[in-house]
Amino acid sequence: MEKCSANEVFRYFSEIASIPRGSGNIGEISAYLQNFAKERGLAYIAEPCGNVIIRKDATPGCETAPGVVIQGHMDMVAVKEPDCTLDLAREGLILRKTEDGRYLYAEKTSLGGDDGIALAYGLAVLASDSIAHPAIELVATIDEETGMDGAKALSADDVRGRQFLNIDSEDEGIVLVGCAGGLTQKSTFSVGRDTVSGSLLRIAVTGCRGGHSGTEIDKNRTNAVLLLAELVNAMDCGQMLQPLWIRGGEKDNAIPTSAEMVICVNDYERFAICKAFDAAERKLLDAYRLQEPKVDFSLEETTDGGEYEIQEGSYRVMNHASVDNILHFLLLVPFGVSEMSVEPKGLVETSNNIGIVDTSGDVVTVTSSVRSSVEVKKQLLADKIALLTSLCGGIVSRCGEYPGWQYRPVSPLRDAFIEVFRDQYGEEPLVQTIHAGLECGLIIEKMPETDAISFGPNILDIHTTAERMEIASVERTWELLLRLLDKLGRG
Ligand SMILES: [Zn+2]
Repeated sequence: MEKCSANEVFRYFSEIASIPRGSGNIGEISAYLQNFAKERGLAYIAEPCGNVIIRKDATPGCETAPGVVIQGHMDMVAVKEPDCTLDLAREGLILRKTEDGRYLYAEKTSLGGDDGIALAYGLAVLASDSIAHPAIELVATIDEETGMDGAKALSADDVRGRQFLNIDSEDEGIVLVGCAGGLTQKSTFSVGRDTVSGSLLRIAVTGCRGGHSGTEIDKNRTNAVLLLAELVNAMDCGQMLQPLWIRGGEKDNAIPTSAEMVICVNDYERFAICKAFDAAERKLLDAYRLQEPKVDFSLEETTDGGEYEIQEGSYRVMNHASVDNILHFLLLVPFGVSEMSVEPKGLVETSNNIGIVDTSGDVVTVTSSVRSSVEVKKQLLADKIALLTSLCGGIVSRCGEYPGWQYRPVSPLRDAFIEVFRDQYGEEPLVQTIHAGLECGLIIEKMPETDAISFGPNILDIHTTAERMEIASVERTWELLLRLLDKLGRG
């Protein structure tokens, strides 16, 4: 196979980087892609949402091979450092190389290697007249980073190929062959309230490590909301526990790092509560010391009764039945990994995160973020949590559902990738699934016959101003892509 330099890839990458394209701001990049096609007489489709699909016929000798799609998203997470003067809604990025020449980055902003590099590879293939390939399409989607709107809106009728090369992964040497689907489920509990008099104490759990609810769910992180429930349960104060509210966590997709409960106590109970707290704190610190070295439990006076203060010294607290319901739910609800995958072996398959607990008025809401690469298991786990909610007197609602990409036991595309990788690198790629969403899940839902893989060059610290892309890795991945197209072209 003719060796082909990656110069054109970098040239297209810098053109793309000169176009502002933060999520939601895709007009200019979408027009740029359409112009690219027009100038070269290539057929293209601009979908109403802004997705652009550009087609090129097979090169001679590859006409009978099944078509291939290079797919990536045109938007980027556009972030900048506080002292950066660029207007990222209107101006392009300033590309730089690190001093050692190893990495490409953008001055004081994110780079958009995620996922500009997919477009650059795609355009370089389409523009070349020396690269062998089957019938090829570049599918550039909009707004992946803010809910995968482009993949959601993509019409199956507009795409001919059913072999998808999703170039939206950031680890050279890893090929992804499956991803998690997810949904958000809110469990809501109506609480009854009694009016009592006394003073307020705030019980808090802080300093847990937290993390991403998908990619860090298997890292043994403790959930601060559930730890607070364990603490209160270990205090075992029965009817003395009179909470005004319980709150913790900030995002559905983050493991909470802190949580708090404000309770009302009278002078007779205060001593017993403090003693119970001390004993429970000792017990839990001992249990969680290794897992959460910075965890802290605190009990302190507060005067903030929020909306539950009737007048100073008089508060509306949750009644005992309501407290029991909520605590029982938090003590029993599954958190963390519920199943590991059989194939590829030993990766997270199904999990749940409790992201937020909040009290507002007379309602406590607990948000679950369920994920699985197996659609049925996602539903089963969500159903289990719904059943527990109902046993604890609550109701559920679901939103933000997206499909997973289930591992295919038979995948000619995966086999072809592994073969060309082995030839080029002299070693095996790691074949993995990822416990987070990729556009492939939505694409396969629309076109179930699709065979897909996801790969890409090394890009570090994506979505931050430290984002940088390894130049040699871009070159190797370019060669890998050309070898793969050549192999697929030969059928
Ligand atoms: Zn991406």
